[in-house]
Amino acid sequence: MSPLPRRLLLGLSGGIAAYKSLELARELIRRGHEVRAVMTPSAARFVGPVTFTGLTGSPAVVDLWDPAYAGEIHVELGRWADAMVIAPATMNTLGKLAHGLVDDAVTACASCLRGPLVVAPAMHTRMWLRPSTQRNVATLRGDGVHVVGPVVGPLASGESGEGRMAEVTDIADALLATLTPQDLAGLRLLVTAGPTVEDLDPVRFLGNRSTGKMGFAIARRALARGARVTLVRGPVELPDPPGAQVVRVRSALEMQAAVTAALPAHDALVMSAAVADYRAKHVSDVKVKKGDDVSIELVRNPDILLEVGAARTGPLPVLVGFAVETHDVVAYARDKLFRKRVDMIVANEARVGFGGDDNEAVLVRHDGETPTGRVSKLGLADRILDGVREFHAGATSRVG
Ligand code: C5P
Repeated sequence: MSPLPRRLLLGLSGGIAAYKSLELARELIRRGHEVRAVMTPSAARFVGPVTFTGLTGSPAVVDLWDPAYAGEIHVELGRWADAMVIAPATMNTLGKLAHGLVDDAVTACASCLRGPLVVAPAMHTRMWLRPSTQRNVATLRGDGVHVVGPVVGPLASGESGEGRMAEVTDIADALLATLTPQDLAGLRLLVTAGPTVEDLDPVRFLGNRSTGKMGFAIARRALARGARVTLVRGPVELPDPPGAQVVRVRSALEMQAAVTAALPAHDALVMSAAVADYRAKHVSDVKVKKGDDVSIELVRNPDILLEVGAARTGPLPVLVGFAVETHDVVAYARDKLFRKRVDMIVANEARVGFGGDDNEAVLVRHDGETPTGRVSKLGLADRILDGVREFHAGATSRVG
């Protein structure tokens, strides 16, 4: 189930983090949604409303008294929006929302909203930890408001602590999750992502070009759709998806151990990791000095998916593998489907899938194959998860 284009209202109150909300607007638009911005007068002192007008294509609303608005703009926007996010949400704005005080365009729109409200608090740690702020946030949660962040990190003051606004992608995920049917609720999903790297000595390793983006996208979309997610991640730079249980590994053997330990508590395994097929037979404890040519003796790593497929006795856990090839992609994928005894292989060409935010794949299943065309990795993640859901539903109805 791919996300529908939504009408999203972005409210900004007056914190320095307001500059990051330009990226938030862009991120939401990039994901195919329509965005309109509404700002408090202090937010408008941090970032110009014109910038949001330019980005979103609609005038950013700051002043409810502006004669340009013929009717009641907050009522109109409250009706227009499927959901609203206030990012950054200051101590002041959280306090006003918790107490029903409405004296600016942001609180007015939030009060007229029909759909869900998400707030992303951002303030200095001492303000965040104030009992009044904590009380107000608890009140808002009780009122059904979704609170994302804040996180621990560097603050505008130069100090570091809790109070930094959550990452833009996490805010976007949290906002869209409020509009996403929880069709994977109850599903326990194990996802592997990224490369494994195989050490040669304390400074050198064998690796591959996997960035982990596809596996992280699967974890994020599964979480948004209500699944419980364990993510076994190789060494990549990406931030952990909030809400996932994360296991960090480095080598194929570590990934095998993590998958084997976790799998019994899961309903499905999606192996999107680019597991190294070989490792060095001998790993040197000390840095190998350069000299003459050397050869490295490689030994086979276990094929994790193959072993899991061979050990499976019934339709569960659902198993999904990936196939990255430079040629004859679908033929190799079909071979892997049978050999590894899995439910689906996501096949793509090496030159398309690595690194970027988009992908193009063929979903190869026992009942046929479906090319996806060019899609975002988040979009492809949804397609893969649709398959997982279908296999899981089929398996559980057969199991009883
Ligand atoms: O056989 P090939 O490496 O092309 O298969 C790719 C699929 O198998 C991926 O899903 C990958 O995560 C998985 N795999 C594995 N263990 C390996 C190599 C690949 O589980 N050692």
